[in-house]
Amino acid sequence: MIIAANLKTNLTRVQTGEYIANLETFLQTSGVKQDVYIFPAISSLDSFQTSACVGAQNCYPTKNGAFTGEIGVDHLDEFGIKTILIGHSERRHILGETKEQIAAKFEYFKKLGYTIVYCVGEPLEKREAGEAVMMEYIDAQYKGIDTAYEKLIIAYEPVWAIGTGLTPSSEDIKNIHTKLKEKSNAPLLYGGSVKVNNAKEIMALENVDGVLVGSAALHVEDFAQMIADAQHLES
Ligand code: PEP
Repeated sequence: MIIAANLKTNLTRVQTGEYIANLETFLQTSGVKQDVYIFPAISSLDSFQTSACVGAQNCYPTKNGAFTGEIGVDHLDEFGIKTILIGHSERRHILGETKEQIAAKFEYFKKLGYTIVYCVGEPLEKREAGEAVMMEYIDAQYKGIDTAYEKLIIAYEPVWAIGTGLTPSSEDIKNIHTKLKEKSNAPLLYGGSVKVNNAKEIMALENVDGVLVGSAALHVEDFAQMIADAQHLES
């Protein structure tokens, strides 16, 4: 299974180093065999010694240049980073990234052979408008995206569940994941208020290939517990 931590705008470089060192101790001593991804804040990236895959939460689709406030591929290359998160709801809704910009970013990093964790998910008003409206909204997020890209991982993250403590029912997650699997064979993660007390139940659902965890992953013990839960489900 894939267990991914989105650390968002949290943990300094020193704190991230400690976090990853603690996680690595767990990975080495527990012997778990899961695919673990960590997305630190951009300024906390470093050459970490870890068996987990360290990715970037964002990068401008450029090698370098005049894009004030952004980073380019040169900055990721410095740390050997070849994995990127694209389409996260906070970038879509707070930072105003458009579908077109997201699709262009996807294409750019695909050409460079990056592993792409691509996030999709509906806001509350779309969910409340009924399944047809909700699916139409999510369908549009697949437009311009190569769903057959071999290094693609998709994360279904309902916007209303992110950071709110709310989650869809297991039945709802199962249903939507089944529909999304018809659009792409890529591994499909669930994200949105995954916590230590619900991760195992969610990961056990059909068509759930792992989880993308935000706030609960900030506690390395909790994140490690979720990795152990994934291992347990597979053994
Ligand atoms: C996320 O931001 O990707 C996320 C899933 O956040 P949280 O777990 O805090 O809801």
